[in-house]
Parts: sequence; structure tokens; C-alpha cells
Amino acid sequence: MIAIDGPAGSGKSTVSLKLAKKLNLTFLTTGAFYRGLAFLANKRSIPLDDEGALVRLTHDAGFSVVANSQGTRVLVDGQDVTSQINTEEVGKGASLVSALPTVRAALLESQRGFARGAGLVAEGRDCGTVVFPNAALKIFLTASLESRAHRRSSEYQMPNQETQKALEERDSRDSQRAAAPMAKASDAIEIDTSEMTIDEVVGKIAQIYSERRSKN
Ligand code: C5P
Repeated sequence: MIAIDGPAGSGKSTVSLKLAKKLNLTFLTTGAFYRGLAFLANKRSIPLDDEGALVRLTHDAGFSVVANSQGTRVLVDGQDVTSQINTEEVGKGASLVSALPTVRAALLESQRGFARGAGLVAEGRDCGTVVFPNAALKIFLTASLESRAHRRSSEYQMPNQETQKALEERDSRDSQRAAAPMAKASDAIEIDTSEMTIDEVVGKIAQIYSERRSKN
């Protein structure tokens, strides 16, 4: 079990997916649960601050998350909506619903369920601290606000300044909320990816992983 956390735009998803493919492990992006829920809430016209209705929505028969070494996919009412939830707008909605403690609690067991059986690379904000506190390897990825905004603005095709503002808002909401705030686990290794390519980051984590394995 490898847990990778960090702020939006730090390279978590891309790095974790490449790493999972390289090591033939299942890849779980935990943000998909919150993005999927925000998307479904919108579809069902449920306000993103209606905690009770959102908790009920986590059990909605039309909502599921599937994962394997090729990625994590979100299904809503039988439709694969993975590409539709990968926008800054849904990311903001995800950040709002994920701040609600009972919503997080309702999704925790399904997230942990992915660790049964197969090895896993899980990424998010609280994978090393709350979801998988016993992970064998914990990584916390960081990067300067400028480089994160640069990466995200090309990914989402948004103006750089607008992206920077959205990231700052999301960072502050994610790290200041009371329930499972984004945080580096005390036993996590921090890697600043500002000046690194994706392959360099993947190579570095794979190296730490194999060093750990050869010691155990
Ligand atoms: O990582 P991603 O951008 O897909 O996450 C979307 C939002 O979901 C984050 O901004 C955060 O608010 C929330 N999230 C979380 N805990 C996680 C993963 C994501 O609160 N483990």
C-alpha cells in the first residue's frame, strides 16, 4: 500500500497512475468519490451544503467508483462520467462536499474496501493520515503555487490567474477544515515536484519503494 497526498496540481494523480502501472498495483484516486458525489448532487438538484441528503446520496444505487491498475472510474446512473468530473468546477464542488464530516465518514469504508486483496496506490488529501494510516509507504507531494497553477491551467485550459485563485481557495478550504484536513502524515516523505518531471517523480518514488521492500 502506497499512500500519496498533496494539494491540487502537485502531480499526485498523474504520478500515482504511472506508478501503479509500473508496479502493477490498483490505482485509487480518492478525490473521485467527492467529485462523483458533487456531480451526482448537481444532477439530483441537491444543494452542496445539505449534509443529510448528501450522506443519503453516498448510498445511491446510481453511484459507484471502480478502480484497477489502469485508473479510477466513476459511474453515475450507469454512465461513465469520469471525463466530465475532471473540471475545476466539479473540483470546487468536491471540496465543498468533502468538508462535511458525515459525508467523509460515509465514504470511508468504500475507500478502504479497495485495499482488500490487491496492492494499491491511493492518492488524495488524507490517505496517509486517515484512510490508510498503516500504508507501507507514504509520500506527500508539494509544488509551488506558480507551478501548480501552470500545470492546471494547461490541463483545464483556463487562464493562469484564474487557476491560481481557484487553487488558493481550494488549498485553504482543504487544509483548514476540521474533518480530515489535508496534511502530511508524520511518517510521510515530502517531495517538492516544482522543478521535476513526472517521470523523475515516479522514478524517485519507485526507488524509495524498492529500497523499503529490500529492507523488509
Ligand atoms: O484530488 P482532487 O482534485 O480530485 O480532489 C477534489 C477535492 O476532493 C479536493 O479538493 C478535496 O477537497 C477533496 N478530497 C478530499 N480528500 C481526499 C481526496 C480529495 O477531501 N482524500
